[in-house]
Amino acid sequence: MAELKLTSARKSFGSIDVLHGIDLAVKDGEFVVFVGPSGCGKSTLLRVIAGLENVTSGEIHIDGERVTHLPASERGLAMVFQSYALYPHMSVRKNMGFALENMGLKPAEIEARVDRAAAMLRLADYLDRKPKALSGGQRQRVAIGRAIVRDPKIFLFDEPLSNLDAELRVATRKELAALHANIGGTMIYVTHDQVEAMTLADRIVVLNAGRIEQVGTPLELYNRPSNAFVAGFIGSPR
Ligand code: ADP
Ligand code: MG
Repeated sequence: MAELKLTSARKSFGSIDVLHGIDLAVKDGEFVVFVGPSGCGKSTLLRVIAGLENVTSGEIHIDGERVTHLPASERGLAMVFQSYALYPHMSVRKNMGFALENMGLKPAEIEARVDRAAAMLRLADYLDRKPKALSGGQRQRVAIGRAIVRDPKIFLFDEPLSNLDAELRVATRKELAALHANIGGTMIYVTHDQVEAMTLADRIVVLNAGRIEQVGTPLELYNRPSNAFVAGFIGSPR
């Protein structure tokens, strides 16, 4: 578990400014959701935190340590994407444990971690299957399991449910909430879905065109939106 701090984080691609100076502090164990319309910079912000992109300027700290220029592999974070990116030729067990082999963990420790995560995600009976023999929801749980086994300081999710149908989305959302209650990790979650944001978040960060419009609890944003954009975005029916 860890806290995260962004200070004046900016990101440009060539002459296009995508993030205009983001200041944000995420507390240890907090579930923070980034919401905003398509193209507002949610994924870029997550990738900058993950170390998959470098900030153009500004600073990033994790647990007080400056990680602004650390590569992704040294930040101790784990990211779950909307496309599950599972290895088709590997079993579920192998998909979940593969990265741990590269981290140099012993086979017995890898097996124990995979078994623990599989039990948590109701995947214990599917560990020998290949991804193509799983449902969409099960595949997404494998992708989440792959993050859990790494015991990351912070979990980063980029629209992890957007490829699932409506029913599965609700079920998997509930599992994510239970997971957070269980392991209590710091979680940063990107979505363009207001309902997901309202139900999962301790605090919501509303982004618009690369800037933070407002940060607050779901109730605060709903009851006291600081401007029309937030009111429209949080209040509008889907
Ligand atoms: P969101 O996730 O909120 O939909 P993104 O962070 O993916 O938004 O993108 C924000 C803006 O940055 C978009 O205008 C997108 O085209 C641009 N962008 C993202 N990645 C790159 C890149 N690698 N090169 C150039 N422009 C990019
Ligand atoms: Mg995105």
